[in-house]
Amino acid sequence: MRSKQEYIEKAESELYKTYNRFPVVFDHGDGVRLYDTDGVEYLDFGAGIAVMGLGYNDPEFNEALKAQVDKLLHTSNLFYNVPAVEAGELILKASGMDKVFFTNSGTEAVEGALKIARRYAYNKDSSHDHEIIAMKHSFHGRSFGALSVTGNDHYQEPFKPLLPGIKFADFNDLDSVKELVNDKTCAIIMETVQGEGGIYPAGEEFLKGVRALCDDHDMLLILDEIQCGMGRTGEMFAWQKYGVKPDVMTVAKALGNGVPVGAFLAAGKAGAAMSPGDHGTTYGGNPFVTAAACKVLELFEKRKIVDHVKEMGEYLTKKLNFLADRYPVITGRRGTGLIQGLEFSVPVASIVNQALIEQKLVLISAGANVIRFVPPLVIEKEHVDEMVKKLEEILKHHS
Ligand SMILES: *Cc1c(COP(=O)(O)O)cnc(C)c1O
Repeated sequence: MRSKQEYIEKAESELYKTYNRFPVVFDHGDGVRLYDTDGVEYLDFGAGIAVMGLGYNDPEFNEALKAQVDKLLHTSNLFYNVPAVEAGELILKASGMDKVFFTNSGTEAVEGALKIARRYAYNKDSSHDHEIIAMKHSFHGRSFGALSVTGNDHYQEPFKPLLPGIKFADFNDLDSVKELVNDKTCAIIMETVQGEGGIYPAGEEFLKGVRALCDDHDMLLILDEIQCGMGRTGEMFAWQKYGVKPDVMTVAKALGNGVPVGAFLAAGKAGAAMSPGDHGTTYGGNPFVTAAACKVLELFEKRKIVDHVKEMGEYLTKKLNFLADRYPVITGRRGTGLIQGLEFSVPVASIVNQALIEQKLVLISAGANVIRFVPPLVIEKEHVDEMVKKLEEILKHHS
């Protein structure tokens, strides 16, 4: 085995440089803890960017994966397979949607959702000039389609031209959306809770207003639940507490608990927009990844994960409010459940770095000034307390 420094140097010389990584090499995990190659323990409040909902090294989840490895990994979508059917049944039941397509990532789920929107509009008038409204400060992924609806100039600029016909409205400003709607608008896409943009939940009036707008103009409402879905807000899917339902929804991150699997789901008229030949994937929804998704959905139900998130979310809210009251450098708290953010009056990069290196606490930021709290959904109060204590060690010196 190489030393930590050797791994870092080799990684820097071999791996394509699109990330600035923290100088830590993780080796294994257990529950809400990660361990580096020197055996040092970390408390994880990032969950691999909101992926490891069930935490690390869950015995029941691991058993299901191992069993599927010994049975069948892949067959292609030219045939049926059992885990895809089982996972499909569970996710449709949890969401109330009508159809699901399993993908390899969140980005690909967004691509599929955008294709449904285009296809739905094309079915009506066979024209090629349809527009989609997206939100400023949104994040939907890095492929050309997903990037085109990501409201971030920094990510978009070097890769233009992107998809034509995309317009950006202000999140939580219904009038700004209305102003962009015309005869050619076929869909509105947004995150129910903006994640990377800084943890901004959609307001109830706003989401209901957008839903009504979509109904009035026969446009599809696409809700990206890749980060905020799968129980993270204290609802299985964040939109479920608003009393609205999307036509199309995207899911990924916590769906596979570390196994790369995403999905786009459609309801009603959107569920019938695409026909055989319109979309495909070699790996997507293969027996291995859908066995993972199936087990995740099963364990969510069995362990009442969503109820647990509600309880832990209230506790985390209380503790983060306490920090916000106590340290003037913190200017606000946002979010619900186990997707919350603290906004700072200064860039948070050095705090996040110190938390990792000095306090062995894994935190991630969301934009320059926000620390995002997206721990494994299985955290307990004692872990919240431990996180607060570690974070205070750093904040003490920042105020
Ligand atoms: C992470 C994320 C994506 C992209 O998912 P990948 O699996 O990284 O492709 C899309 N939308 C939202 C809201 C996300 O948080």
